[in-house]
Amino acid sequence: MTIDGKTRTCGLIGNPVEHTLSPVIHNTLADRLGHNMVYVPFLVEEDRVEEAVKGAFALNLLGMNVTVPYKSEVIGSLKEIDSLAEKIGAVNTLVRTEGGYKGYNTDMEGLYRAMDSEGIRIRGEEIILLGAGGAARAVAYLCASKGAAKVYMLNRTKEKAQTVSREVNQAMGSEVIVPMMLEEYGSLPDRQFLAIQGTSVGLSPHVEDVVIADREFYQKIHTGFDLIYSPWETKFMHLVKEGGGKAYNGLKMLLYQGIIAYELWNDVSVSEEDAMIVYDRMKENFI
Ligand code: NAP
Repeated sequence: MTIDGKTRTCGLIGNPVEHTLSPVIHNTLADRLGHNMVYVPFLVEEDRVEEAVKGAFALNLLGMNVTVPYKSEVIGSLKEIDSLAEKIGAVNTLVRTEGGYKGYNTDMEGLYRAMDSEGIRIRGEEIILLGAGGAARAVAYLCASKGAAKVYMLNRTKEKAQTVSREVNQAMGSEVIVPMMLEEYGSLPDRQFLAIQGTSVGLSPHVEDVVIADREFYQKIHTGFDLIYSPWETKFMHLVKEGGGKAYNGLKMLLYQGIIAYELWNDVSVSEEDAMIVYDRMKENFI
């Protein structure tokens, strides 16, 4: 990579950012595709998001990714917001426009591409969604908009699941999302489900944690998708496999949310061949 007077800069704002794999995604793509672009992480302290976005714009940054804990807070600093990101209430990608940044949510489409690449279908499926936080909310929109038959949203705090369900159902004009408490899993219909793990439980270093430990529950899951990718195999994934199902982690979701952001910044379409080269590089850099 040669940095010169024409090099464009993109970056990630969040806290923490030290272990991010996003620079691997974007710098590998820039190398492969011959774009004069560099991507760096920026640690932003609490209450300084607005300043950071203004500063990025003043420094002529082409685009930014936004990670925890600023995906909602950043919305107040945008010039414009994509309608889907607005519905989800979270932005993870800023694209430079005249006078400010436009915010997008590429997490949801990233998950869709990741599932599609593994041959996992949403249309017509009965889905168990664990969690009702920022990520699970986006997943609920994805499932509803891609034609899921039913989504049982199980969360520790039922009010949160109720709020998210109401909002998504209203936006979609359906009753597809059904809120439940985690402990109510025993009353799920007796059939086979696609299950998406969208809580932060099981994330390193708490690798033995899982929201539902009962092995019976996992007998109902034909495919489990955990949004977590560290550890490589979560306890949730382990239990799904033990119950006879297939299990996937969230690294491909991370890959594709990055690829979609890269496509927005550089107005290109990234091939599957390049996507897989980036994926291999991410796995090499995986801690
Ligand atoms: P969040 O907004 O903080 O939501 C956390 C969720 O986890 C809530 O549903 C919360 O339930 C639940 N939870 C937390 N501790 C719990 C416990 N001890 N028992 C039961 N439930 C618990 O977080 P988020 O932004 O949605 O992220 C969730 C996960 O998705 C994170 O691990 C993140 O790394 C992952 N993620 C991955 C990608 C990717 O690209 N692969 C992208 C985005 C997020 P309550 O509502 O009851 O608090």
